[in-house]
Amino acid sequence: MMEIFPFLNEYNYQQLLFCNDNGSGLKAIIAIHDTTLGPALGGVRMMAYPFEEAALKDVLRLARGMTYKASISGLDLGGGKSVIIGDPNSKKTEDLLRAMGRFIHSLGGKYIAGQDVGTNSQDMATIAQETPFVTCVHEVAGGPGDPSFATAYGVKVGMKALLKEAFGSDSLDNRRIAIQGVGNVGYYVAKYCHEEGAKITTTDVSERALRRVSDEFGAEIVDQHDIYGVNCDIFSPCAIGGVVNDEIIPKLKCSVIAGSANNVLAKDHHGLVLQRKGILYGPDYLINSGGLIQCQEEVLGEVIRNRVLEKVSRIYDQVLAVIHKAKEEKISTAEAADRIAEERIRKIQNIKRIWTG
Ligand code: NAD
Repeated sequence: MMEIFPFLNEYNYQQLLFCNDNGSGLKAIIAIHDTTLGPALGGVRMMAYPFEEAALKDVLRLARGMTYKASISGLDLGGGKSVIIGDPNSKKTEDLLRAMGRFIHSLGGKYIAGQDVGTNSQDMATIAQETPFVTCVHEVAGGPGDPSFATAYGVKVGMKALLKEAFGSDSLDNRRIAIQGVGNVGYYVAKYCHEEGAKITTTDVSERALRRVSDEFGAEIVDQHDIYGVNCDIFSPCAIGGVVNDEIIPKLKCSVIAGSANNVLAKDHHGLVLQRKGILYGPDYLINSGGLIQCQEEVLGEVIRNRVLEKVSRIYDQVLAVIHKAKEEKISTAEAADRIAEERIRKIQNIKRIWTG
């Protein structure tokens, strides 16, 4: 059995809520990492975890990631996440989601939910029957729906800043982009890049998803394991985390990595390994923060698409700031992003300490 408090201590987690509802079969965990900057906002992930410890580790890791994402993006949000243990295809019911909604409500707004792997905007509309502390609510229920287009827009903007550093020009024209996963976000990444003249190579486990990008954007399709070795300007992981690891790094033939997947680096030191290989890495939680930016707009009251995209486009300057810091302090871009996110939180904590004496 995992010792919980030493882990919470190490990364300074604020709160963990274990949620059990026998009637609906809900078993869930809500983790709140840090609320220095505002209420903790993070998605509700639903997955058939093989054992409880896997769910616990996942929710803790993801909640902490949200703190960094909100901080570096200049948002007034803290970091939190929740996981529902169970197969979303067979175990997701209205009853279960509403039970989850009541647990979210019991936190009084300290945690605000959103969609994530295994949940969608319709599920968020169901949760909204029980609590106002939820985002990504489906259009039919009066919300803005899935924020994937905003996430993808941020990925594109981040790519352009990275290209500027790598090649001196931020144009996507004629650049080759290798996209792993063309689901909700990856599809829009392909679309935005195609619109600016990029050539797309992609892979996915879904034939349908592949056919769509091949038909619409002339994307070249490769086998799942061949995507890493594609000779390209940008490798864009938009499916799963942990893909930049000891086995994959030697295969990479790209100049830049920028995708929507969370936790792209299998281990922290892989940021440095990429740097030594001459690959410019766009820190995942900064590059993929467009969806969270839309969520903050929703919390503030109104989502206006153009205003969201205008705010998301600020990722460009933030990526350049990360690159600048990495050079100045002779560290990887991943480390530089962490430092910028931590410095902002520390500053606000200090101000709060002065206020409260
Ligand atoms: P999605 O499920 O819609 O798309 C993922 C795609 O990847 C699917 O088409 C799936 O078939 C494919 N895939 C899965 N395993 C694969 C593999 N091994 N090789 C190739 N393709 C594979 O998910 P999404 O909403 O597009 O999110 C993509 C990633 O971005 C996830 O890691 C998610 O956590 C992250 N993310 C998404 C958002 C958002 O706004 N949706 C925001 C931040 C981060």
